Amino acid sequence: MLVEEAFSSNWIAPAGPHLECFEREFCHYVEASHAVALSSGTGALHLALLLNGVEAGDEVLCSTLSFVASANPIRYVGAKPVFIDSDFGTWNMDPNLLADWLGRRAEKKRLPKAVIVVHLYGQCADLDPIQEVCDLYGIAVIEDAAEALGATYKNRYAGTSSSTGIFSFNGNKIITTSGGGMLVCKDAEWAEKARFLSTQARDSAPHYQHSQQGYNYRLSNVLAAIGRGQLAKLTEFIAARRSNFDYYFESLEDLAGIGFMPEPSYGKSTRWLSCITIEERESEVSSDKIRIALEAENIECRPVWKPLHLQPLFAHCEIIGGEVSEKLFRTGLCLPSGSALTEEQLSRVVAAIRSCF
Ligand SMILES: *Cc1c(COP(=O)(O)O)cnc(C)c1O
Repeated sequence: MLVEEAFSSNWIAPAGPHLECFEREFCHYVEASHAVALSSGTGALHLALLLNGVEAGDEVLCSTLSFVASANPIRYVGAKPVFIDSDFGTWNMDPNLLADWLGRRAEKKRLPKAVIVVHLYGQCADLDPIQEVCDLYGIAVIEDAAEALGATYKNRYAGTSSSTGIFSFNGNKIITTSGGGMLVCKDAEWAEKARFLSTQARDSAPHYQHSQQGYNYRLSNVLAAIGRGQLAKLTEFIAARRSNFDYYFESLEDLAGIGFMPEPSYGKSTRWLSCITIEERESEVSSDKIRIALEAENIECRPVWKPLHLQPLFAHCEIIGGEVSEKLFRTGLCLPSGSALTEEQLSRVVAAIRSCF
């Protein structure tokens, strides 16, 4: 086994052969130029902001419908988050809203430094128009692909279209090292710099010498061995997650007021999570009632992410739009979506939902 090999070869330190192999195999899977294995997706995003030159006082745009870790690193570098809404067709960043807002900001000569595009629940945002308008104004694009490893956009893998992309191997993600992350980039020097910053920024000298502030963000060789084993199963996990979604769709589609997270024709979602919406006026049952009914059956079910602009933590941040993500939060539910769910378990979930109608 890969982990036993990591122990028996005594490479337990945060360096070693599995780390390099994991990075190489990861690059191969997602067709990225360079990959740097890190201790978390959040740390990867922090380094991505540093690589892109984001500094204190800068503004950084971020998808509002996401997990808090998409925006926290903006504050780690002293920059200011500005949140932007989704569209109903993708649940991801609305490219038209972005273009309009950037146009207005360009007139005032107050442009943000970077845009963090989140690929939500296994599905890519509509990247090309986002990249195009950011290129027009010289704004860096960072892809938060923490939830979308293996998803595609026009035959490119999530995280690999822009200058930098990040992934997470946290416990709940599609592959896991218990905790971990990856940064991918197109530029070899940026990858070297990320490795340098993630290992305390040690200058090349026989003694310990430091001229820059660094971080302790490198993934360990043992966890990289786990990552390699997990990556080998990714294709299988994606198929299982997509088949969960298909099962829910076929068994619930007829219910009044039910909707499903759409899959735009530009790519393929991993369906990391299977998400539904409930239009209460049609269904006469609220998403909350369904969630509580599932809970009573000991079935875990969560509302869609609470938009970041509604979080007390970001109460004073600017929000562009907001109605779409607010509605998805009000009506959306994430159903059990594990790669190992059995048909019997899926049918229990379906029965519990149907009993509410
Ligand atoms: C999980 C997640 C992260 C953070 O990854 P960690 O490895 O937990 O630090 C960042 N962004 C999104 C959208 C996530 O879902």
